[in-house]
Amino acid sequence: MKQETIAIHAGDKNSENDVISPIHLSTTFKREKDGSYPNGNIYSRTSNPNRRALENTMARLEHAQVAAAFSSGSAAAASVFRALGKNDHAIVPTDMYHGIAKAIKNIFIPSAMDISFVDMTNLAELKAAIKSQTKLIWIETPSNPLLKLTDINAVIKIAKSAGAILAVDNTWMPPNMQDVLAMGADIVVHSSTKYLAGHSDVIGGIVVSKYDDEFFKKIRFIQINEGAVPSPFDCWLILRGIKTLAYRMRGHNNNALKIAQYLEQQPQIERVLYPGLASHPQYEIAQKQMTEYGGMLSILLKAGEAAALKLAANLEIFTRATSLGGVESLIEHRASIEGPDSLTPDNLLRISVGLEHIDDLIADLSQALDKL
Ligand SMILES: *Cc1c(COP(=O)(O)O)cnc(C)c1O
Repeated sequence: MKQETIAIHAGDKNSENDVISPIHLSTTFKREKDGSYPNGNIYSRTSNPNRRALENTMARLEHAQVAAAFSSGSAAAASVFRALGKNDHAIVPTDMYHGIAKAIKNIFIPSAMDISFVDMTNLAELKAAIKSQTKLIWIETPSNPLLKLTDINAVIKIAKSAGAILAVDNTWMPPNMQDVLAMGADIVVHSSTKYLAGHSDVIGGIVVSKYDDEFFKKIRFIQINEGAVPSPFDCWLILRGIKTLAYRMRGHNNNALKIAQYLEQQPQIERVLYPGLASHPQYEIAQKQMTEYGGMLSILLKAGEAAALKLAANLEIFTRATSLGGVESLIEHRASIEGPDSLTPDNLLRISVGLEHIDDLIADLSQALDKL
């Protein structure tokens, strides 16, 4: 079956013939007289029908064996690092989601985990960072907020020769846009808060693993025993979002490309960072590994930080807010939210392109640029 069909049907199998699954709020499930649990559910932290439906659907959409849903993308990402053994080493990109980078710097490294930051666009730097204990390489491509690309095939080769697991934060690239597991990666992580749920009304995360192997079993153990699990309603909302994912992504991708092309022509804009533009320094890598270029782009303003903030203030349809992946367009001055150790240029605005009509979005950008 294709993505659209799996997304709509995989999650709604249930015993009462509801066309849409009910929300199973029960925290505990009845045993049979012989002590067995006929549907496998014992207690909702361990498993819940809504969570299982979400996990099974995501595993199928990613052509993977298993998935574990968490209460946030951050909790999902943390579980991958916490599944490492005492002497294992991990390598992560310098340009990565700042919340995960903060957890690595302030929680994992201080608790004696061995984690190195490298520029993943520089393969020599990555190779030089490999140690005999390297167990995990983590990538995020396109990166946030600079839209730098990592050459996935090249990193897969390096990970395989090092005997390391390759995990990909594919939050910006939902299923079918960058099929990293088919390319040879082992694990995909999503913040379901973003495109999967798609309506800015639920926080969630998921780890999808190609194989139900020892490493994934540790992630499952962390999910169940540390208990950062999503509520049944959260799972239900995310699964509802997934049903329209493929259609929403077409709108996000088309609108983002048009906005990138429009902004690239405007005299107030120094640069547009979007992998679907031929001007992107890694456009060739984009064409090799992405089937679509995504709904996210960043722009740099010629007149600096003040102009960036003014442009954001002048907009009427784009909302000034953090996050991404919802139906509404958002714009954000990243340096402000990332704080003092941010490496993001202060004239950069990041845009999450929504599903409003493209003519209205461009008219809004045009009036806001005119007022600069
Ligand atoms: C938002 C985001 C996360 C974190 O997810 P939360 O659901 O906010 O915890 C991780 N990675 C990327 C790329 C994100 O955009």
